[in-house]
Amino acid sequence: MKIPFNLPPKSSHEEQYIAQAISNRKLSGEGSFNKKCTEWFNKNLPTLMTVITPSCTSALEMAMVLADIGPGDEVILPSFTFTSTANVVALYGAVPVFVDIDPRTLNIDPIAIEKAITPRTRVIMPVHYAGVGCEMDRIMALAEPKNIWVVEDAAQGIFASYKGKALGSWGHMAAFSFHETKNIVCGEGGALTINDKRLLARAEIVRDKGTNRQQFLNGQVDKYTWQDKGSSYLLSELSAAFLLSQLEEGPQITERRLKIWNEYNQGLAELEKQGHLTRMTVPSEAKANAHIYYILLNSADVRAALWQFLRDRDIQSTTHYVPLHSAPAGVKYGRISGSLKVTDDLANRMLRLPMFADLSTDEVAYVVDSIDAFFKR
Ligand SMILES: *Cc1c(COP(=O)(O)O)cnc(C)c1O
Repeated sequence: MKIPFNLPPKSSHEEQYIAQAISNRKLSGEGSFNKKCTEWFNKNLPTLMTVITPSCTSALEMAMVLADIGPGDEVILPSFTFTSTANVVALYGAVPVFVDIDPRTLNIDPIAIEKAITPRTRVIMPVHYAGVGCEMDRIMALAEPKNIWVVEDAAQGIFASYKGKALGSWGHMAAFSFHETKNIVCGEGGALTINDKRLLARAEIVRDKGTNRQQFLNGQVDKYTWQDKGSSYLLSELSAAFLLSQLEEGPQITERRLKIWNEYNQGLAELEKQGHLTRMTVPSEAKANAHIYYILLNSADVRAALWQFLRDRDIQSTTHYVPLHSAPAGVKYGRISGSLKVTDDLANRMLRLPMFADLSTDEVAYVVDSIDAFFKR
């Protein structure tokens, strides 16, 4: 049995919608499938505005332009995240300030955020690791009295919530990813949700190369011109057509992943009891989406040995982020606040198991049996 780490999910209407997009003779970002994807967000998340973007990275960039960050500004984020979260900060000349994570969730630690806030702090970027919500109520309570923007990196967060409220609807802005490694995909794609009135006026302009083209298309002005800083944050209609089919079937795709997540979690309970590993946990306040199933091993050496053992059995498991504070660009552009002990420790001991909607019960059992066999060698 050969088990890959990830395969993108398939939904029912991708070919049909793409064919329709082609026959519509409208392929740029203001076509009907982009509109339908936007409407899907407006209907399913309590946000003020959603724009569909070419990636989560570009959605985060757009958020930085809307927050108007620049040299001298600081942005607080976890070191344990994907490059994009910090890169967008450095791109606009601001300083990423890396803080530690909570060992229970691997999400940014609100106490560490509080200690990292300075008069230069302009933005906090919580990352919902594995689709498990950060403590957004505490984070918003830290940010709002100080007029600090909160931009959720909800790349992994679709169909998940914290304290009953959807991820992506807590912060002033939030960015989602539809990269093929995420739960809902269109190859490359993303979305920016905006939840604060103050940000709405510039959003359409920033998104469309700094022009008021949207007002022109709506018939509000008779020509459009350069109004503000911006870029091209629009997704092709062909990708949006694919995405709409995936969003429509998102609840079923998420259900399938959650079933697999539970199979892993039950299958590995005994090994945890025996002290061989620690299973991923989801706090009761969070409703997760099974984006990731990870385990923590007792040491980096055990992890390396298990990783190799699974590879020899044709099972592709994988580690995750090299903490950004220790990456070359993190050292050059960022700075550390407080201790990063938890990050350094857990990043070295975690292993992610194969997780995708089409994984069968037999395949999950084979992965679990193989991990069991490793500890019983
Ligand atoms: C995947 C991911 C991104 C980047 O998403 P793209 O759509 O590939 O730009 C950013 N942040 C996190 C936490 C991610 O997991």
